[in-house]
Amino acid sequence: MITWIGRVLVLLVLIPRSYGWGREGHYATCKIAEGYLSEDAVAGVTKLLPLHAEGELAAVCSWADEIRIHHRWSGALHFADTPDFLCNYSYCRDCHDSAQLKDRCVTGGIYNYTKQLKLGPDSGITYNLTEALMFLAHFIGDVHQPLHAGFLGDLGGNGVTLQWYSQKTNLHRVWDDMIIESALKTYYNGNLMTMIRSIQENMLNDDFDDISSWDSCDATVCPDTYVLILLKSVDCRIMACYDNVYSLTSFLLFFYASMEVRYASESINLACKFAYRNATPGSTLGDDYFVSRLPIVEKRLAQGGVRLAAVLNRIFNSSLPIATE
Ligand SMILES: [Zn+2]
Repeated sequence: MITWIGRVLVLLVLIPRSYGWGREGHYATCKIAEGYLSEDAVAGVTKLLPLHAEGELAAVCSWADEIRIHHRWSGALHFADTPDFLCNYSYCRDCHDSAQLKDRCVTGGIYNYTKQLKLGPDSGITYNLTEALMFLAHFIGDVHQPLHAGFLGDLGGNGVTLQWYSQKTNLHRVWDDMIIESALKTYYNGNLMTMIRSIQENMLNDDFDDISSWDSCDATVCPDTYVLILLKSVDCRIMACYDNVYSLTSFLLFFYASMEVRYASESINLACKFAYRNATPGSTLGDDYFVSRLPIVEKRLAQGGVRLAAVLNRIFNSSLPIATE
């Protein structure tokens, strides 16, 4: 006899999973990032972009979604679901795929492709660095979509069926697409570039009051070497994956890795405070939800862009070679 838990699990398995900001969201994140790239990063990125991108990073930021049907292994790398109602993210606890394989989640993906790009040819392994760049640009966008660190029980909101105005959909899609699409229609004359320019103006005018801290480090995110050595409870990845935690490369890779863990923590926090709030199964979301959540979506697109640029600037900064010790 199938129990109710079994029926719920069967239902959840049958729910098609959505994999991140829609095309518009990813394009916006990467377009914003383009404006913050250093000269070195522009050169490094341009060299790796495929020809059809015509030098535009934003043109390939949805590539990871387009190929996931053929690269099914990559599906788990678009998100990092967290235990229901805990509202926090832990790399050790949460970064795995449905078969419990560790490091297979969005923060693991960011870490992996950052590492590939940073080590490049020095790693001794021939990585496809063009794909690494396109995955990295996409996953940094994804980790900023709050429901990409949503609850396991409803597959990050994919299992929460509801109405967006008169349209039947699910909560995850509301955050991937619907809020952005409604904003385009309502405020931006259907023009994505106008919306992106408006977000950029808000950034220049300091309308996001904490913008200076988006890419900053504190003791938790970027512990100094002594803290790293002394802390036994440091991120499990560095204990598990590196033989020599004292090496400069390991430390600096940990520095990079820690940043995306912070982004996922922010996301589940925002999911609890804003995405799930008043969005129960069967409910109808309309003006109140749209108007109050749009600023969160625009801020996450902006943060994703600034942070993607910062990661690429560090990767391609020719005066900071961390691939050698
Ligand atoms: Zn995605």
